[in-house]
Amino acid sequence: MIKDTARLVMTLKCNRGCTYCPNGFYKKLMTKLENFDDLDKYNNICITGGEPLLDCSTLLALLDDLRLLRGNFKIYLYASDYDPVTVSLPGVMQRINGLTWTLHENTSFDDMQKFNHVQALLSSANDNRLVLHTKAMLQWAPRINYLKWNRVTVLQMTEHTCSLPPNEDLLIMPEACK
Ligand code: SF4
Repeated sequence: MIKDTARLVMTLKCNRGCTYCPNGFYKKLMTKLENFDDLDKYNNICITGGEPLLDCSTLLALLDDLRLLRGNFKIYLYASDYDPVTVSLPGVMQRINGLTWTLHENTSFDDMQKFNHVQALLSSANDNRLVLHTKAMLQWAPRINYLKWNRVTVLQMTEHTCSLPPNEDLLIMPEACK
């Protein structure tokens, strides 16, 4: 089966420590991306982690390299946190076709402020998805602008919630393996 989506792990680093984090399980399934040009065979690139936005300069360089490789990739970013001091959110938003943002079980007031900021910056022309852990939904009752999100999903996440769609390959950047 020809797969049209590469789920690309940019980093395994993340500050959250979610109880249901699937990366321990997924690590065994990740294939190291030995040759960057191999990404050209996919149509969609889903950049994930860990938390990609915690290393914004690496993320921006990766996004630019992908556009150089092929201008018409559909590039999606999975994220849930950022460092306000170092991140260039507008720069990231300009370079992607869609964002999946998650409010996890351990969402704090600070996370809610970040969510509001991210939501305000989103382009409604993009394919954006909001994932809400039931705890975050109940504790914070986020003000969701439905014009900005194509899909909003409320999940009681468990370590078994995530599964790899059959049309995706799970790849990891060599730098993330160190
Ligand atoms: S935010 Fe994602 S990568 Fe980080 S601990 Fe939670 S599930 Fe794992």
